[in-house]
Amino acid sequence: HAKSHGRGRFTVFAEEMDSTLRSRRSLEQDLRAALAGDQLAVHYQPQFAMRGGAMTGVEALVRWHHPAKGMMPPAAFLPVAEESGLIEAIGEWVLREATRAARDWPVGRLSINVSALQLRRPGFAARVMALLAESGFEPARLQLEIGESRYIEHAQDCRPNIMLLRANGVQMALDDFGTGFSSLGSLRQCAIDRVKIDRSFVQAIDRDADGDAVIAAIIRLAQATGLHVTAGGVETAGQNAALATMGCDEVQGFLLARPLPAAAIARLLADGGGPGLLPAPARTVWH
Ligand code: C2E
Ligand code: MG
Ligand code: MG
Repeated sequence: HAKSHGRGRFTVFAEEMDSTLRSRRSLEQDLRAALAGDQLAVHYQPQFAMRGGAMTGVEALVRWHHPAKGMMPPAAFLPVAEESGLIEAIGEWVLREATRAARDWPVGRLSINVSALQLRRPGFAARVMALLAESGFEPARLQLEIGESRYIEHAQDCRPNIMLLRANGVQMALDDFGTGFSSLGSLRQCAIDRVKIDRSFVQAIDRDADGDAVIAAIIRLAQATGLHVTAGGVETAGQNAALATMGCDEVQGFLLARPLPAAAIARLLADGGGPGLLPAPARTVWH
């Protein structure tokens, strides 16, 4: 009996694996169709200077309007995109789309997330420069974001592209900072301009007794190394106020603005949301 039970479980397990593989493969096929068709979009989340409240930049965030499943968040398809290598084509599409959309917006910086797979690919930096020239987008206004843990894992292989991008004026940011355990030494060597503190630390401000001390130490560490600091995932006025006290340069989060389609950002900027014209971020909420 035990044996047949075990076998039954194995069969169920195998069937589950099979269906996981099948759904992965069909997701991958759907994603190819999405790229070829018109199903991908980019939303833009504003970032604000802590001092003065000006909109300093926007972060491009990819969206997928799946014909059957509806709006899919990046977390639902980026893992498959990474594994299949499709992330490179998606990343290139986002770069082209976002630089065209944001070219004439009166904001200093456009941030675009890139995968380690892109940053490791020989020739990636040259490809980015060619795309920027095509879009007429000034390189110094572009910032590429790479997740801290993925960067640490592949720092050596990413280096040639990062050096070439930065030599051309493109800025680099470490995303989800604080989750990957960069040492002070590695931070100094890693040729970046900015860190984006992971929202788990920001959200610990209101919640944990030592939350404030931890994030204050992270900000001091980054600034001591000469880096700019953006805090992500700011959801409450309390978090915003604490970050101001800690000397954080820039904030991004649902409290200030949600990711919005290009047309909504353009409207916001036309309505006086341009640099230096915004009220203090804590009082500005768009949903
Ligand atoms: P990320 O780069 O850390 O981007 C910030 C994420 O946090 C976004 O999720 C944004 O909607 C969300 N967020 C912003 N403010 C708040 C807040 O106050 N509270 C909470 N709970 N969340 C907030 P999204 O758009 O789902 O993107 C998830 C991740 O997918 C991104 O994290 C980024 O790593 C990746 N991603 C998005 N677009 C691209 C892309 O074009 N290429 C690549 N390679 N990765 C991308
Ligand atoms: Mg990011
Ligand atoms: Mg993040």
